[in-house]
Amino acid sequence: MKLGIVGLPNVGKSTLFNSLTKAGAESANYPFCTIDPNIGIVAVPDERLKVLGDLYHSEKVVPAAIEFVDIAGLVKGASKGEGLGNQFLSNIREVDAIVHVVRCFEDSNIIHVDGSVDPLRDIETINLELIFSDMEILERRFARTSKGAKNDKALAKELELLERLKVHLEGGKLAKGFAVLDEEEEELLLSYNLLTYKPVIYAANVKEEDLADEGVNNEKVAQVREFAKAEGSEAFVICAQIEQEIAELEEEEKKMFLEELGLKESGLEKLIAASYHILGLISYLTAGPKETKAWTIKRGTKAPGAAGKIHSDFERGFIRAEIVSYDNLTECGNFNLAKEKGLVRSEGKEYVVQDGDVVLFRFNV
Ligand code: GDP
Repeated sequence: MKLGIVGLPNVGKSTLFNSLTKAGAESANYPFCTIDPNIGIVAVPDERLKVLGDLYHSEKVVPAAIEFVDIAGLVKGASKGEGLGNQFLSNIREVDAIVHVVRCFEDSNIIHVDGSVDPLRDIETINLELIFSDMEILERRFARTSKGAKNDKALAKELELLERLKVHLEGGKLAKGFAVLDEEEEELLLSYNLLTYKPVIYAANVKEEDLADEGVNNEKVAQVREFAKAEGSEAFVICAQIEQEIAELEEEEKKMFLEELGLKESGLEKLIAASYHILGLISYLTAGPKETKAWTIKRGTKAPGAAGKIHSDFERGFIRAEIVSYDNLTECGNFNLAKEKGLVRSEGKEYVVQDGDVVLFRFNV
C-alpha cells in the first residue's frame, strides 16, 4: 500500500512525513527505512504480532508495511507546470490513497502561502490542481477515442462518458462524486487512474492544545470534518509537531507521553487505521518458528487470493486453509489445544478471510 502526503507549503507535511517514517521504522524490529528522502516504508503497528511471535518462538516477526511518499511542491498553478508541478502530480498518480494535510493551527511565525489559516480554501486550492491535472488526462484520452469513435460502438460509448466526466470536473467536482451508469463505465473510470478518484484522508494539523479533545473546540477542524464527510472521505486530527516528539521516544516512554497528553494512540496509528478503513483493508496472520507475519488484503478476499499474497504458487495450487482466529488461538495458548477444542477450521476456496485469522495454507506445487 502506498500513501501520498499532499498539502500546501508550510502546513506540516514534511514534519508529519519525517515523524511517521521515524516512528514507523523504530516501532518494528525490522529494517524499515527511508529509501529516498521522499519515500519511507513504515511498519503497520499490530500488537497481535508480538504475542503470536512469542507463542511460536518465531525467529522473526514481520509486520505489514505501508509506503509513504512526501509529495511536496503542490502549489497553485502546479497543473500548469508551476514549480515542479507536473512531476509532483505524476507522483500522486501512483499512490493508492492521498493523505491531505490541512493546516488548522495558528502560528504567526510560520507564514501561510495565502496569508491566513483557512482549511476549506486550502483544500479547494489543492483539489483544483488535482482536477486540472485530471482534465488534461481526459483531454488526451478524448483525442484518442474520438478518432475511432465513428465506426466503433464501444469507443462511441466511451466518448459519451468522457464528455459527461469533463462537464462534471469543469464544475469543480471530484471524479469520486461522478455517477457512472453501469459497470463498464466504472471500469473505464478506474482505468483512467484519475487523481480525484483516489480515496482521501484529511489530516487536520492542529496545535498541541487541540489534540486531547480531538479538536472539538476548533472550528477549523469541524469544517474539515464536515467537508470530508460530505465527500465520503476520512478525517483525523494530528499535531505534526508532537508526532515529531513522539517519534523520538522509546516504546515505553511513548506510552507514558501519550497518556500524559490524554491520547489513546499516536498519529501514525490513527493514520494507518484511517487508511485501512478507507481502502477496505484487513490483516491476516501467518505464524511459525521461522517467522510470524502480517499480510494486508482487501476485505472480502477469498482464501486463494489471500494465499496469492504470499506466493502465486500458493494461489495456483490452493487446496484448503487451516484457520483459527487470533482470539481463539491466544485464549487456548497453542495451536494443538485450539485444534482439540475444534476451533481450527478447514476452509475451502470460497472462504472469505477475516481480520486476525491465523492461517496455514495447504497447497499443491
Ligand atoms: P511543509 O511545507 O508542509 O512540508 O511544512 P513543514 O513540515 O516544513 O512545516 C512548516 C513549519 O510549520 C515548520 O517550521 C514546522 O515546524 C511548523 N509546524 C509543522 N507542524 C506544526 C504544528 O502542528 N504546529 C505548529 N505550531 N507548527 C507546526
